[in-house]
Amino acid sequence: MPEPVRAGERIFRGIPVSPGVCRGKILVLGKPNGDVLPRTEILEEEIPVELKRFEQALVDTRHQVLEVQRQLSEGLGANDAAIFDAHLLVLEDPTLIDEVNRLIREQKVGAGYAFQQVVEKYIKTLSSIGDDYLRERATDMRDVAGRMLDNLVGRETNLDLRNLTEPCIIISYDLTPSQTAQMDKKMVLGFATDIGSRTSHTAIMARSMRIPAVVGLHHASHEIPSGTYVLLDGFNGQIVVNPTDQTLFEYGQLVKKRVSLEEKLRDTIDKPTVTLDGIPVILSANVEQASDTEAVLASGAEGVGLFRTEYLYINREVLPNEEEQFQAYFQVADALKPSPVIIRTLDLGGDKFLSHLNVPQEMNPFLGWRAIRFCLQEREIFRVQLRAILRASVVGNIKMMYPMISGLDELNQANALLEEFKGELRKEGVPFDENLEVGAMIEIPSAAIAADSLARRVKFFSVGTNDLIQYSLAVDRLNERIAHLYEPTHPAIIRLIKMTADAGAKHGVWTGVCGEMAGDPVLTPLLLGLGVTELSAAPGAVPQIKYLIRRLKMTEARELADFALNCESAGEILARCKKLTAQVAPSLFENLAP
Ligand code: PEP
Ligand code: MG
Repeated sequence: MPEPVRAGERIFRGIPVSPGVCRGKILVLGKPNGDVLPRTEILEEEIPVELKRFEQALVDTRHQVLEVQRQLSEGLGANDAAIFDAHLLVLEDPTLIDEVNRLIREQKVGAGYAFQQVVEKYIKTLSSIGDDYLRERATDMRDVAGRMLDNLVGRETNLDLRNLTEPCIIISYDLTPSQTAQMDKKMVLGFATDIGSRTSHTAIMARSMRIPAVVGLHHASHEIPSGTYVLLDGFNGQIVVNPTDQTLFEYGQLVKKRVSLEEKLRDTIDKPTVTLDGIPVILSANVEQASDTEAVLASGAEGVGLFRTEYLYINREVLPNEEEQFQAYFQVADALKPSPVIIRTLDLGGDKFLSHLNVPQEMNPFLGWRAIRFCLQEREIFRVQLRAILRASVVGNIKMMYPMISGLDELNQANALLEEFKGELRKEGVPFDENLEVGAMIEIPSAAIAADSLARRVKFFSVGTNDLIQYSLAVDRLNERIAHLYEPTHPAIIRLIKMTADAGAKHGVWTGVCGEMAGDPVLTPLLLGLGVTELSAAPGAVPQIKYLIRRLKMTEARELADFALNCESAGEILARCKKLTAQVAPSLFENLAP
């Protein structure tokens, strides 16, 4: 809900996901598949206008579909283009059209709302029937309905985010990780979404690209029109519409304070990551693309703790081949050697999809065909990636880990395939590192509980807290409505991390954390106290973490962890974490409010 603060100003509050402040004009971007439109009541005399608007949108959508079909049949052939016949049929369906017209007339509602009501009813009915053909019709209908709504509401949907011509702040109902990856950093000053939360891949991408961002703003994309001048505050998670001079002044002061903090942090970049009582910690960075290595070096991180390789696969028409992947892995390992680079094998699914892979839509994508489950079935895709990683392993210090391991079976299967592909390369006389270290991500509770047996088959664990929290607490990591239940300091999470680190230590296996918990300085002492020896965070967060570790005693961290392991309340644990970190490094936590 917007809040009026100073005269002429409105404030929308959401969830801060990427720090920074920016000012500029809003560009509203449409969600390709339509979000829920609010009910708009119309007057009797407006009915003909709405009926006409609906008719016009049907005509415009039909032209667009025909154009897409024409382009496809030139590129791919008539057979592939024929799938759009189903879309055209939806636009000509007399029952659907009559029903929308009737709703506009009888209920006196806007055409967009009426169309959405009717089409959603059809989609629901088609999807609920256990028949693959009908379910596909529901997908066609959703697709064409998205186009219709874009035409009815007049949203920008076909914008190429790589080629924006003016600097702007993007606001949208939602943004996919692939859209975010396309953003031109010179033109996108910041972005905001109605839905989403801190650990969505879109938010993670924003931090990695250092674009200020706020998510979970509810209806902001409906309420702030394109062209509006706003200030976006990625520290506190708010958008100020039409900021007054006083607000701009106060934010100017805040930015100055942040700049002076960053200067202070810069002094520690070249220093070792070691606690005040002399215990070294490995501090690494998370990367999404090979070009992120410069940011890693500049952050003072000692290597890469998580290379999310999915981004090599998205925003493209064909899968990356072995050579292309080899080049990417080689580039990162070469730039950072002798520091380690942990390459995570493909983690597609959840909120990261490849449109051209034809992965069927799932009811629960985060519980579905994703990550290692996908790779163990799509063996050829896995083979290409593992061969590329193995080949690159002769350069620098590459390690590899599997995402979403749920238990021993999957780990054994993945390792068996790895051995098979190593055998191929040996036969071909292609060199690779025979001692390549392999680790498992611990992001499913079953893996943490079974860490003892996993530890016998790996060299390291990397705890993916983003998923571990989502699966342990049954809280969707993307859903802003339940973001308050997504609690990293929940006693169950603390115990699962401890269980993992203990099981690892028993077998000489080190445990790192590469989820977003590792990027929050408030939680650094807790993780170290639990026995975690490596932290991997977005490059932007690395200097703060190092600054804090250099001021912390491991004894304090262990005391905090002991307290947390015996405490029953997430809130109390968090309060203790805040107290300790504010004592150890006060300057990191001051001066964030304008
Ligand atoms: C995690 O789940 O914590 C993790 C690092 O993997 P991702 O965020 O890519 O799912
Ligand atoms: Mg994960």
